[in-house]
Amino acid sequence: MNKIAQIFESLEYGPAPEGADQANAWLDAKGRKFGHFINGEWTAPGKVFASTNPANGQKLADITDGTADDVDAAVKAARKAFGGWSKLSGYKRGKYLYAIARMIQKHSRLFAVLETMDNGKPIRESRDADIPLVARHFYHHAGWATHLDREFPDHAPYGVCGQIIPWNFPLLMLAWKVAPALAAGNTVVLKPAEFTSLTALLLADICDRVGLPKGVVNIVTGEGDTGAAIVNHPDVDKIAFTGSTEVGKIIREATAGSGKGLSLELGGKSPYIVFEDADLDSAVEGLVEAIWFNQGQVCCAGSRLLVQESIEERFIAKLKARMAKLRVGDPLDKSIDIGALVAPVQVERIRDLMKRGVAEGAVVYEADGALPEKGCFLKPALVTNVSPANTLVAEEIFGPVLVAMSFRTPDEAIALANNTRYGLAATVWTENVNLALDIAPKIRAGVVWINGTNQFDAAVGFGGYKESGFGREGGREGMGAYLKPNWEKDLKKAQAVPAIAATAAKNPLDGGIDQTAKMYIGGKQARPDSAYNRPVLGPKGELVGEVGDGNRKDIRNAVEKARGALSWGTTAAHTRAQILYFLAENLEYRRDEFAARIKAQTGVDGGEEVDLSIERIFAFAGWADKYDGAVHNPPMRAVAAAMVEPLGVMGIIAPPSRPLLGSIALIAPALAMGNSVVLVPSERSPLSMTDFYQVLETSDVPAGVINIVTGDSVALAKTLAEHDGVDGVWFAGPAEGSAMVEKASAGNVKQTWTTRGFDFDWAHPRFAGEYFLGKATQIKNVWIPYGA
Ligand code: NDP
Repeated sequence: MNKIAQIFESLEYGPAPEGADQANAWLDAKGRKFGHFINGEWTAPGKVFASTNPANGQKLADITDGTADDVDAAVKAARKAFGGWSKLSGYKRGKYLYAIARMIQKHSRLFAVLETMDNGKPIRESRDADIPLVARHFYHHAGWATHLDREFPDHAPYGVCGQIIPWNFPLLMLAWKVAPALAAGNTVVLKPAEFTSLTALLLADICDRVGLPKGVVNIVTGEGDTGAAIVNHPDVDKIAFTGSTEVGKIIREATAGSGKGLSLELGGKSPYIVFEDADLDSAVEGLVEAIWFNQGQVCCAGSRLLVQESIEERFIAKLKARMAKLRVGDPLDKSIDIGALVAPVQVERIRDLMKRGVAEGAVVYEADGALPEKGCFLKPALVTNVSPANTLVAEEIFGPVLVAMSFRTPDEAIALANNTRYGLAATVWTENVNLALDIAPKIRAGVVWINGTNQFDAAVGFGGYKESGFGREGGREGMGAYLKPNWEKDLKKAQAVPAIAATAAKNPLDGGIDQTAKMYIGGKQARPDSAYNRPVLGPKGELVGEVGDGNRKDIRNAVEKARGALSWGTTAAHTRAQILYFLAENLEYRRDEFAARIKAQTGVDGGEEVDLSIERIFAFAGWADKYDGAVHNPPMRAVAAAMVEPLGVMGIIAPPSRPLLGSIALIAPALAMGNSVVLVPSERSPLSMTDFYQVLETSDVPAGVINIVTGDSVALAKTLAEHDGVDGVWFAGPAEGSAMVEKASAGNVKQTWTTRGFDFDWAHPRFAGEYFLGKATQIKNVWIPYGA
């Protein structure tokens, strides 16, 4: 039989190697030794570490381990460049981004080969997924730069952005960060991951080639310490981080109180749900993509298969048959499905996790066939016989390991899907569009793919819920994350509120009846757990009433009730609007009484504050059904519905000033967007909000949607910030309290907003606008494919 006939007979793959000549030529031209790219120049290499090809262990180049001084030089260069760059017109900045996009396309093969050599991912993926998406991000953001003034009026860039990225999508993560930062007019200091610096360094060459002004993009290579030096540098205005949840928490704590902007794209353990009516062959193919794309080293990998019990056996059999056909090997071979993991240490880490899982009862299936003798390879693995508590189900493995569990009903699927501290992505397979669109909003994740998986686009935001982080990359929301309102820079430090000593002066409202206000928890008045009260003093030190002295237990009870009221978030926006209107109306009936109470506590006539509060509730009643999502049209046969969802349970600590408006200004947007709230009203003047119970009770606000705990603001804020059942905290108060809240929030990576000790004019109409709406919500993108 001749050779061709033999090939037809066996249908074996032949070798299809991609040439590495150009990538090697580029490395040779650089002497295979790199310094940093700072202020448009290459620095001399310092202390170096080796970058190796994980597929064969060969050294590719020496990379400089950046010191704090290197970071400082880069930040100085970025600061110097910021003035000129941010003042360029959006059109001119857009032209630079466009030039970078074109250069990436022009050199796409070089980038793809270099990425594969450095990272180990199959050339098929770097060539067809990573690099085209990189170019797409620069194109897309060239457009944003051009339209920035129109689309984000009265906004300014942060300044110098410190950006720290992981090794799994080295150039793509760079593009997701650098493109929007530059479009907005920021300058950047970026640190690639220690294992994979090369394509970032090649991009530095491109920045040079397109004549990007010096210092606009600075690349400092190094390890974790170098990243920490960027995070802690006092002249960095924003940190954008992608990496592990563990390091994300360290960064959250390190930046607390610094005023630095922060976005965190962290880990995941995403569910892949297959219903019995799914197109099973497509779902198997999708699963291959979900868990074995990039060897499973994907933050949003569909690593938890949840398959309906009725089809479990059939589906697993199909999956095993498919696994037997997956080809593991040289990533530069174009016919390889699974390449090398990034480094030996990752292979060891995964093996250790597998051992733990097996010791806990897991059963591991791997297809037959040998692995290459050298290099960081692992076989694709399917893990069964696991409970939700098994290490392999609970921990992010970040490797080619799929765990499978079954479910019976859609409700059970949702419960299992949400049974994780992460919330990055989810995949749903069903031919029933009604079921898919019912499931998607119930999954707590930033991205939901229906009948598809791992789809990304620059126009569609990507980012997590829960411990998968906060902030979005891509889309309008990703662009907005690199801008802040102009007025924020004009804020003045708030004056410390002088203490008032109690006197014997007579309380103007004193009618001789006991005036101890209780807490308001789960729609009922509740006595404080401590059984202690706190006096409320008027401006002359007179006793105007007493409130309960709330403690951790009161907060815990309130959070529990608030969690029980989360269905407020799925109540029709029109209904929420009506309830808020009714609240405004009922407050208006009692205007004089509330005005007198404000006067008793502050000495200031309260009529205007009550009117402003009514107007503010009215404003957010109006917003409830208008702050809407969008439908994106990514360049594939799909639409992505960007749905605006509430954060969940919010802890809100009201400012000491403005006893009524201070609380209303914060709770109204939170409620309008569907959050349930635990409010700590003004510590000094809480009586306006304890009076407010009666308005709530007459306004059809469901029990548990607003809970009010009085007491020491900072102590209660700490409990709220530390509580894992709280999804977001807003704190209006001193700088130290703000820093404490930000730090304490790291435990479950909750979103925070704090006044940082600045003086906010709560009466200003800007706070009746979108400012707080964005902070009270997060965007979930639901990808829906089309085509017969
Ligand atoms: P790490 O968090 O360890 O590292 C991420 C980056 O941070 C690297 O550049 C690293 O440097 C640097 N770094 C490490 N320690 C510190 C520190 N204390 N301060 C500042 N920077 C530091 O994650 P991996 O690189 O191991 O990446 C894997 C993780 O990233 C996974 O958990 C994955 O889920 C997550 N990830 C999330 C994505 C998302 O979009 N949500 C996307 C991709 C990955 P160095 O590595 O050089 O030491």
